[in-house]
Amino acid sequence: MHLKHNKDRLTSRLCEAVDNATDDLIELTQALINFPTINPPAENYREICEFLSARLTKKGFKCDLIRATGALGDSDKYPRWNVVARHEGGRPGECVHFNSHTDVVAVGDGWTVDPFEGVVKDGKIYGRGACDMKGGLAASIIAAEKFIEICGDYKGAIEISGTADEESGGFGGVAYLAEQGWFNPERVQHVIIPEPLNKDRICLGHRGVLWTEIETYGHIAHGSMPFQGDCAVRHMGAVIEALEHKVYPALEKKQTAMPVVPEQARQSTLNINSIHGGLPEPEAGYTGLPSALVPDRCRMVLDRRFIIEEDIDDVRQELQSLLREVGHSRPKFKATTKELFSVIPTMTDKDAPIVKAVTDAIQQELGREPDYVVSPGTYDQKHIDRIGRLQNCIAYGPGILDLAHQPDEYVGIQDMVDSTKVMVRSLASLLLD
Ligand SMILES: [Zn+2]
Repeated sequence: MHLKHNKDRLTSRLCEAVDNATDDLIELTQALINFPTINPPAENYREICEFLSARLTKKGFKCDLIRATGALGDSDKYPRWNVVARHEGGRPGECVHFNSHTDVVAVGDGWTVDPFEGVVKDGKIYGRGACDMKGGLAASIIAAEKFIEICGDYKGAIEISGTADEESGGFGGVAYLAEQGWFNPERVQHVIIPEPLNKDRICLGHRGVLWTEIETYGHIAHGSMPFQGDCAVRHMGAVIEALEHKVYPALEKKQTAMPVVPEQARQSTLNINSIHGGLPEPEAGYTGLPSALVPDRCRMVLDRRFIIEEDIDDVRQELQSLLREVGHSRPKFKATTKELFSVIPTMTDKDAPIVKAVTDAIQQELGREPDYVVSPGTYDQKHIDRIGRLQNCIAYGPGILDLAHQPDEYVGIQDMVDSTKVMVRSLASLLLD
């Protein structure tokens, strides 16, 4: 009884401290937006990591700056820098890790404010990355700092990482750190990724991905005598026809129990990402005519998204058997496939400790049940799950997902304050007696 009372008292002090830190939260978000960490190519990674490290060192964190040397995309010109900050409580216990990516996507057209100034207007902070996900990063920092100030003798540890390249696959960021053991379940037990999923939703995971390039082959000849050649594009046309008749209707039937949002993505899907055959596209301004050729090669990239009920090997087989079938009706048909990228679907259990802690915190702070969702695409949870072998991971953070990557991207200040309180309550429930 006494302990419970003490915990409740500390929790209300924590929430009050977060309210009082609203200006700090705004300034920190603005400062993070001020770094134009555009990816690609990957700019100002080191600068933002040094900024985070300087701030967190002052608050008692031990900070490591880690370059993902040799990772996909890393070069001397565009080094992939990451920061991991760890604060030890007074007693042994579990570690709660907040992971945010520091990179943002290109600015694009249509902005009415400077995308890197951090303009505050009508209760919102504007800027590229405001919602995806510098607002979430700032919220997690304030939550951790206030928790440490008020509950210094907690059990366990808190970590905050700022990582590279999420927008381009995360290989120079979370994947690298996971390979180096930073997400080893022996040092980290709970992970929150403050991606912008709305303050009352918990994202449990994502669907799987299989990108495959198919190439069909023919025989080059003069376009006036196509019978002397063999058209690779027609072979690819047969593949597309088979996709239309066989694969697309079958995918409609593969419905999932995963709570994917939007709802249309609660099934397996397939996108024809690109197709190319014959002469290369002429450069802009070129006015000559193409030459008459039968194309001898055609390439197509397929983006297949699959559900947790499917096995990745079955998804691979689906394409192979389709190609074999097309070959039966086309004597000269020849095709090869190259797998470009794959991600296994992941979904954290609703009974997992991190889900329970954040659920309770949302109920207490917002007075309603959270929605549990799954992302149609993927994010860095894939590396934490697959390489780090840590299943106790969710995405939870402020900001409206639909605003990510848009012009005039913003994050609502009250949203940030509310989700900072949810984070600080979650820390209290996981790290206090
Ligand atoms: Zn993001």
